[in-house]
Amino acid sequence: MIKLSGKPVYQGIAMGPAAVLRKEDQPVKRIRIADTETEIARLKKAGKEASQQLQKLYEKAKKEVGESSAAIFEVHQMMLEDDDYLDAIHSMICTEMVNAEFAVAMTGDNFAAMFVGMDDDYMKARAADVKDISNRLIRNLSGEKEIDFASMEPSVIVADDLTPSETVQMDKEKILAFVTVHGSANSHTSILARMMNIPALIGVPVNLNEIRSGMTVMVDGFRGEAVFEPSEEIGMAARERIQKEQDKIKLLQELKGKENRTKDGRTINIYANIGSVSDVGYALENDAGGIGLFRSEFLYLGRDDYPSEEEQFQAYRQVVQTMAGKKVIIRTLDIGADKQADYFDLGKEDNPAMGYRAIRICLKEQEIFCTQLRALLRAAVYGNLSVMYPMITSVDEVTKIYEIVERVKEELDTNGIPYKVPEQGIMIETPAAVMISDELAEMVDFFSIGTNDLTQYTLAVDRQNERLDDFYNPHHKAILKMIQMVVDNAHIAGKWAGICGELGADPKLTKRFIDMGIDELSVAPSMILPLREIVREI
Ligand code: PEP
Ligand code: MG
Repeated sequence: MIKLSGKPVYQGIAMGPAAVLRKEDQPVKRIRIADTETEIARLKKAGKEASQQLQKLYEKAKKEVGESSAAIFEVHQMMLEDDDYLDAIHSMICTEMVNAEFAVAMTGDNFAAMFVGMDDDYMKARAADVKDISNRLIRNLSGEKEIDFASMEPSVIVADDLTPSETVQMDKEKILAFVTVHGSANSHTSILARMMNIPALIGVPVNLNEIRSGMTVMVDGFRGEAVFEPSEEIGMAARERIQKEQDKIKLLQELKGKENRTKDGRTINIYANIGSVSDVGYALENDAGGIGLFRSEFLYLGRDDYPSEEEQFQAYRQVVQTMAGKKVIIRTLDIGADKQADYFDLGKEDNPAMGYRAIRICLKEQEIFCTQLRALLRAAVYGNLSVMYPMITSVDEVTKIYEIVERVKEELDTNGIPYKVPEQGIMIETPAAVMISDELAEMVDFFSIGTNDLTQYTLAVDRQNERLDDFYNPHHKAILKMIQMVVDNAHIAGKWAGICGELGADPKLTKRFIDMGIDELSVAPSMILPLREIVREI
């Protein structure tokens, strides 16, 4: 039994088999060996297994995506049998007396570097393949099973760290919990865990070399504990608590259909934050009054190219149609910082949170923005859609956005494509936007306060930096004063203001938000009914 502590980012309890996600380029330990023959025999066995795995993958891919896309696995098989590659590994084992894992890792790195240095683009691209087959061999040598997300049974994902693009690609039905060594409580991966109602712990000092996929693990997001191979006693207690949690969730179901009204008659809208079309199910299941934040950038992650206008139109239309007349606020692309997609080619920045992201990309690369706006204006015909722009810092940006929207309207008119101009709001997530919220309120239909970024920019605390989690304090007086200022300025102009950052779901502040005059809280779907319960007690 291994018991470890971490920081919970979503409270819940789960138990099941671990699925260990190893990062491709995790350092492999160099171990001095005496018996080179045994190492070479282990390498041979790992190679044979790799060859069988690749054959299976080839056949599966051929069926699912066609022969030409499946051919990559044939290339991998050929590389696996390449004499130069194998000779280099053998020679390193025998001359340097090192373990096979290390010899494979070093040879993989050397070959990849050689490919990258070549002039031919095709050969350059082989660097990733040689790394891939080396990683496969290392996995086989260490007895680690490859995780096949499609056929995986519901599991606890254990990883060094997860990026938002890795997380969005996972099948949510198959994830019982997340346990990661690194990560910050305010990162988008943590937000995704909360959105998916998945118990998650970060900062767990787990040694990934000691953990194998398939080991039972109990994750307690209340106490911040992960227990690998729990004792019978701990397992039984966990099963009881899981049952109790489920009963509690059932009790909350009684609040469905009831109003978010305080005892003295004040009401507040409680909406859901979502990241994908399929999340609408969670919103409805939890009786959301609407969608207060659809992070549309997740449509752009975990893929090789931009989603087309048609693809986006279908997604937005499906969301508004499914919400059947309830408000759906779709935020335009907020890519950059921790949400990276290679094809955007954003380049490395020293300070990405303050860098080229969100509306800045949209104003500079207007074709990307226009494609999304066309899709949004077209989808607005099918329901109650509003559009919201992220990372606004100036009046000038809003003016420019409106000019682009006008151009998009003209284009749609010219082509006779039906559309509707939706309500347009902005996110207030920079101190600059707070300070000019009186002027901005005159220009827009609503404000939604993004407390995640507002906290980051106001307190000068990088929300991604796990070492700063203790300094990241959204309860800071400065933030609460800013929220009040934004609400007041919205109301003076006759507009509404809500909160869609994580702070909106903080039950300790619900009463305070209502006293401030906040009109809407948009939160993870699982928080809707607990907040309703609190509101009804006020
Ligand atoms: C925010 O910054 O509070 C917000 C809701 O946007 P995101 O977390 O996606 O940056
Ligand atoms: Mg933000």
